[in-house]
Amino acid sequence: MSNVIGIDLGTTYSCVAYLEGGEPRVIPNLEGLPTTPSVVSFTQSGEELVGNLALRQAITNPANTVSAIKRLLGKKYDSPEVQKVMKKIPYALSAAKNGDVIVIVDERPITPQEISAKILAYLKKCAEAYFGEAVTQAVITVPAHFDDHQRQATKDSARIAGLNVLRVINEPTSASLAYGLDKKINQTIAVYDIGGGTFDITLMEINDGIFHALATNGNTFLGGEDFDNHIVDWLIEDFKQEHGIDLWEDKLALQRVKEASEKAKRELSFTIESEINLPFICSDEDASMHIQKMLTRKQLEKLTGDLVDRTFPFIEQALKDAKLEPDKIDEIILVGGQSRMPLIKKKIAEFFKMEPVEHLNPDEIVAMGACIQSSILQGDMTNLVVLLDVTPLSLGIETENGRFTKIIDKNTTIPTKKTMPFTTVETNQRRVRVHVLQGEDDFAENNISLAVFDLVGIALAPAGVPQIDVSFEIDADGLVRVSASDTSTGRTQNIEVKPSSGLTPEELNKIIKRSAIPPDEADIDEQA
Ligand code: AMP
Repeated sequence: MSNVIGIDLGTTYSCVAYLEGGEPRVIPNLEGLPTTPSVVSFTQSGEELVGNLALRQAITNPANTVSAIKRLLGKKYDSPEVQKVMKKIPYALSAAKNGDVIVIVDERPITPQEISAKILAYLKKCAEAYFGEAVTQAVITVPAHFDDHQRQATKDSARIAGLNVLRVINEPTSASLAYGLDKKINQTIAVYDIGGGTFDITLMEINDGIFHALATNGNTFLGGEDFDNHIVDWLIEDFKQEHGIDLWEDKLALQRVKEASEKAKRELSFTIESEINLPFICSDEDASMHIQKMLTRKQLEKLTGDLVDRTFPFIEQALKDAKLEPDKIDEIILVGGQSRMPLIKKKIAEFFKMEPVEHLNPDEIVAMGACIQSSILQGDMTNLVVLLDVTPLSLGIETENGRFTKIIDKNTTIPTKKTMPFTTVETNQRRVRVHVLQGEDDFAENNISLAVFDLVGIALAPAGVPQIDVSFEIDADGLVRVSASDTSTGRTQNIEVKPSSGLTPEELNKIIKRSAIPPDEADIDEQA
């Protein structure tokens, strides 16, 4: 059987792993390193660079170097999150026809799915170089709190990269698989996952090989990038006070300040002070200006402590949803590079009154879990392992007065399916509209609109007579499907779907053709 890889497609770094003799192993990238920066750069000469080569371009070619694309996957241009990050990135964004955010490189629009696909294609290439043969199948991880649009966009990215996705799996769930697989444990664990862009908390029960997610919560816009930005804000404000110059306006300087901030932040996980030294950051007619500042761990904690504090209400909510008290948690697993910050470890230890597990590599554990999942899916695991995940957001429909009626509650074990009867309100009504959303707010407009489904071609009948059963399904990838049947005729009810976001099958096909991936690898089957 050909090799199946597990991919952790991270906001800042990505990692790929496979299972060898029952043991997960990280596949090094083409430079021999275990993780690859999730950065794509488009050079003046028309070359496309990925990973460290792209990252090295960031300072000289900031407008055409795209980082943290995961934050934009499946997002609308005018969403508050995108409007906020837009001010802090050196590359340009715009809106696609359907309102989705797109990246503009050299006046050319590129979808976030295509940028992500370039990272995935690079990881695929690394695996192929490692195995010496083609790799076409993968299990890919996403933040537990990713909604349907973000999951679908991730899956589409993989298809563009020529990968058939066996399963989309939640990052914390994946980490818990890698943590608990070889241990005969019966425990309830908390996985605290803070990477470059997202934060998730997942509570997981592990019982004789059954991994059962009890509850998950989080924020897809809270991660290491925000910590970096707080340092950047501090440095730029200080520089403005001293020199009256706004470095936000200077893309080259901004990129250097960003990189230096991230580097200092990392260092401060191991030292108590770090010097930020940026000579010749800018100049005017009279002189060159420099940044030279000492940042202490204490100052960093003051600058970014609010971000750490923001993770705790999510933990409290997840505990409440799982009907657990903190003292019922046996072990805390830290995942994601940002979790190395000592303040996070300290606050977690205070909250749970227990030290988190230290010996796991937070950069690699997610990819490792993904390749274990691929092995489970292929039936290669000798010991019985069952993974029961949950949906992070409630699924429902818009009802009278713009209200949101939940059909499947958050934290329901997936896959799951619920059926609701619909009928007509007028005589001879041929069409009924169902607006499907995800979220927790009582009003539809405050939730994420997934799609509008029109039940069409309903048989002519008096009001209230047609009986149409609409099934709402969340599959094992966490993706939503809607189908309907007319119970009075027993026929499948036709549906017209207007998705609120994402690539249409035609657009996806076009991109795949453009990406010159052989058609058998890029076969498009049915879309959710
Ligand atoms: P991930 O997406 O899991 O690779 O996490 C990447 C994030 O972790 C980035 O924001 C990094 O700056 C951050 N990170 C990596 N190493 C450290 C460290 N030693 N201390 C604090 N943050 C770190």
